[in-house]
Amino acid sequence: MAAEAPLRDTRAIALVMALRKQGIADLRVLEAMEKTPRAAFVEEPFAPSAYENSVLPIACGQTISQPYVVAYMTEALEVGPRMRVLEIGTGSGYQAAVLSPLCRRVYTVERHRPLLDGARARFETLGLHNVVSKHGDGLKGWPEQAPFDRILLAAAVEEVPEALIDQLAPGGILIAPVANGGAGESISQHLTKIIRDEKGITQQVLIPVMFVPMVPGLPQEARKADGKEQKI
Ligand code: SAH
Repeated sequence: MAAEAPLRDTRAIALVMALRKQGIADLRVLEAMEKTPRAAFVEEPFAPSAYENSVLPIACGQTISQPYVVAYMTEALEVGPRMRVLEIGTGSGYQAAVLSPLCRRVYTVERHRPLLDGARARFETLGLHNVVSKHGDGLKGWPEQAPFDRILLAAAVEEVPEALIDQLAPGGILIAPVANGGAGESISQHLTKIIRDEKGITQQVLIPVMFVPMVPGLPQEARKADGKEQKI
């Protein structure tokens, strides 16, 4: 008897075909997008829209990024299999889950405890054992685990904090949505790629994006429980 082929989700295949059309070319990234079930990362009422290329709301007034932007950022990060990657802004855990099969270990930090708890449960259910997470202010990075080969910011900053650039290993790449100034709805953001090499730091401005803002510190209700880490 022929071995059974693993079931492939037709909605995930359609999403990946759309991503290819939009210019995502890295096959490892496309494979990671296909095997990460986005439906598992959104609230039940939004599950039918999970494979559409749209931003969706998650708890605590935050959003899960558009699949295209997740794929684009992941591709721009040029992740290798032996690398350690830091993500700031775990949210639903979707971006960390996409990174998981592409690198050695994902370190992800979230300031909202309920979001972190939800994401951890998903990592567990999906068997993503190389994702470790921490409750805290990601603007400080994760100094105990630094340096990182790659750093990804999943919320917008006006300027990339020195503390994060300092946690980037030589040869490292950091991707962040950076706000271009302006106020209210006129705020525009561009993905920015920071490369650290022997000559110093270089910056490239990539595509325009729209992310929720990075907020310093912890939400009021969570301050007491700060810093609890998951065992690695
Ligand atoms: N990567 C997420 C996207 C989440 S939206 C996903 O795939 O679903 C951005 C997230 O950044 C939000 O969950 C928000 O709470 C978090 N965030 C904002 N400021 C932060 C900070 N200073 N430290 C850690 N997380 C932060």
